[in-house]
Amino acid sequence: MRKKGIVIAIDGPVGSGKSTTAREVARRLGYLYLDTGAMYRALGLGLLRAGISPDEGETAVRMAREARIDLRLHPRGQQTLLDGEDVSGAIRTAEASDAASRVAAHPEVREVLVGLQQEIGRDGGIVLEGRDTGTVVFPDAELKIFLVADVAERARRRFLEMAGEAGDFSTLIEQIRARDARDEATQLKMGEWPTADAVRLDTTGLSLEEQVDRVVRLALERGGGSVPEGGRGEGPV
Ligand code: C5P
Repeated sequence: MRKKGIVIAIDGPVGSGKSTTAREVARRLGYLYLDTGAMYRALGLGLLRAGISPDEGETAVRMAREARIDLRLHPRGQQTLLDGEDVSGAIRTAEASDAASRVAAHPEVREVLVGLQQEIGRDGGIVLEGRDTGTVVFPDAELKIFLVADVAERARRRFLEMAGEAGDFSTLIEQIRARDARDEATQLKMGEWPTADAVRLDTTGLSLEEQVDRVVRLALERGGGSVPEGGRGEGPV
């Protein structure tokens, strides 16, 4: 099958603007947008609901194989379903977020989810967001972006995003640092990231539009022209 556009992998720490940027870049190019973190979150949520600790490796792997994590992808966003239930909202809580990063620490769980992600992105024309998307999932991605922003700026964005549910600002900074540290430790086990071929983009002083413009420009330079006729892949995958 002919490739319908390039593969773009976007990552960055919490609050770096990766979701919004990835979604908007996908919309502008008419590409699929795949939020890989949502898959880890759905699995983490499934375990929590079943009263199982996400640190239980064996059960987590079994659930990764047996649970039905369905994604409805379209250029404007992603709907995440767990065993038929729309959990797009439920996976955004602090508990689900914590469970996701714990469940993601099991290599066999990653293997299962990475396989699904590779299948989804096989034909190109996709923006993938997440830790290992430019190393493990698609090491040959034509464009890899690593977004960075200083921790206070990231906390400020998160604070605004969580509208009143964030608690106090200094606790939020501490939580972000703790999650950065845990994600980095998991990352180190998986190899170097960002890789030397990733473009580092500091978003601290950039507006969302400027961020998106830069990524789209890079995509076009690397042969990632937009996909005609309303883009790729509406509906379930
Ligand atoms: O990106 P998001 O915050 O939704 O990801 C939730 C968690 O899932 C991350 O903290 C990370 O631990 C894990 N994750 C991962 N690999 C990915 C995507 C997410 O390990 N490709």
